[in-house]
Amino acid sequence: MAIQSIRGMHDLYGAEMSAWSAVEKLVHKTFQDFGYKEIRTPVLEKIEVFSQTVGEDTDIVQKQMYTIDRSEEHLALRPEGTAAFIRAVIQHQLHRLPGAQRFYYYLPMYRYERPQKGRQRQFFQFGGELINDASPEADAEIIALLDQIYKALGLKQYEVRINTLGDSESRARYRKALEDHFRPLLGQLSEDSKARFERAPMRILDSKHDADQNAVKKAPRIGDYLTDSAKAHFESVKRRLKQAGVAFIVDPLIVRGLDYYSLTAFEFVSDQLGAQSALGGGGRYDGLAERFGEKPIPAVGFALGMERLMLALEASEKMPKAPGGPFLYLAPLGEVAFERFYPLSLALKRSGLDCELVYEKDKNLKWQLKQANRCGAQYALLLGEEEVAKGVAILKNMSDGGQKEIALDHVIEEINAEQLKQAHSA
Ligand code: AMP
Repeated sequence: MAIQSIRGMHDLYGAEMSAWSAVEKLVHKTFQDFGYKEIRTPVLEKIEVFSQTVGEDTDIVQKQMYTIDRSEEHLALRPEGTAAFIRAVIQHQLHRLPGAQRFYYYLPMYRYERPQKGRQRQFFQFGGELINDASPEADAEIIALLDQIYKALGLKQYEVRINTLGDSESRARYRKALEDHFRPLLGQLSEDSKARFERAPMRILDSKHDADQNAVKKAPRIGDYLTDSAKAHFESVKRRLKQAGVAFIVDPLIVRGLDYYSLTAFEFVSDQLGAQSALGGGGRYDGLAERFGEKPIPAVGFALGMERLMLALEASEKMPKAPGGPFLYLAPLGEVAFERFYPLSLALKRSGLDCELVYEKDKNLKWQLKQANRCGAQYALLLGEEEVAKGVAILKNMSDGGQKEIALDHVIEEINAEQLKQAHSA
C-alpha cells in the first residue's frame, strides 16, 4: 500500500478544508470580539511542563504523551494547551501586566489515544484563558464566551454543565469524605479507580467503568463540604450566568480529568457526537503556577475541540457555506485574446479579485464555458477577436446567463463595481 499518514492523524483538503477555514474564521472573530489576544506556544515543550502540572496519574501523563529525547532533554509534543500557556505567562511575566489579561490559542494537540469518531491522535483546540482575575465574573465570562462561540455558529443542541471543585479547604474535607466512602468499596472498583483512590479520589467520580458506577452514584457530593467562600463564589458564577442568558445545569460529577483545577469546572456536552460527547470544557486553575514554583496566578479557561465542533455542525446542518469557485473566470477565445488576458489576470489578483485563467491558448467558447462552470465561477469574461477589435469584453453571469459588454480598458473597475453591487444585494 502507498505510504499513509499516521493512524489518528489526518490530512485536510478540498471542501473539508474550506469548511474548517470558514469555521476557524468565525471562532477567531468571537474571541476577538470578546477582547482576547492570540498567543502561540511551541509544539514541543520540556516534558515537566505537562508531567508536573496535568497530574502524574492522569491518562495524559501516564499513557498519552508523545515523547522525544534529544540532546539529553526529555521533550513532549503538547497534549494540551493550558500548562504550556502558563509556562509562557511565567516566562514572559505576562501576569505582571496590570489588570485582567485575556488570551486565546488555536493549536494542534497530540495524545496517544485509541482513535474513534471525534477522537484523534492529532486534534485541534481553540482555547481561551483569562488571567489576573479571581472573580466569579471572570468564570462566567469564560463560560459565556464558549457558549457564544457555539451560538454564533448556530449550534443549539448542547448542554452546559457546571460544578464547583471547591477551594483547597473544601477539597481537603471532601477528599476525606470520599476516602471514607470508597475505602470499604475498594474491592469492587475498577483497577483504574483503585489507583486513583490513593492520589486523587475525586477523579473516581469521572470514571466511565461500569464497575464503578454504583459506588459513584452513592458517593458524597462536594456541595455539602464547601467553605462559605467557595459556596459564595459558585453562587455568584451561577447568578452571572443567568444574567448573561447562558442556560446551564449543575452536575456534581463534573470533576475534569486534570489535576490543576479548583472552584469552577464546566463541560459543554452534545448528544450529537456519540461516545465522545464533550464539545469543550474548562475551569479555574489558580494553583497551576505553583506547580512551576511560582505564586498562584488567578486564571480560568477552556478548550474546545475543532473535530467535534465540525461533527456537531454537520449533524445540526449548520456547516457555514464555504466560498465556492472564483468570482471571475477569464475565457480567452484564441491567442490574441489570451495575450490580453494573461497580464489582466495578474492585475485582477493584485487588486484583490479572485479570478481564474487556464493557460490553454486555443480553446473554443464551449470548452471555456464548461471550465467556468466546473470551477464554480460566478462570472465569465469572454473575449474573442471581434471584441478585441471593438475594445470590449463580454461579462456573463454564470447563474442566470445574462451578459453585457464592458470596456476592455476598464475591466478591473467594472468587475469591482459588479462585486460591490453583489455584496450590497446579498
Ligand atoms: P480536554 O483537554 O481533554 O478537556 O479536552 C478539551 C476538548 O478537546 C474536548 O472537549 C474535545 O472537544 C477536545 N478533545 C480532547 N481530546 C480529543 C481527541 N483525542 N480528539 C479530538 N478532540 C479531542
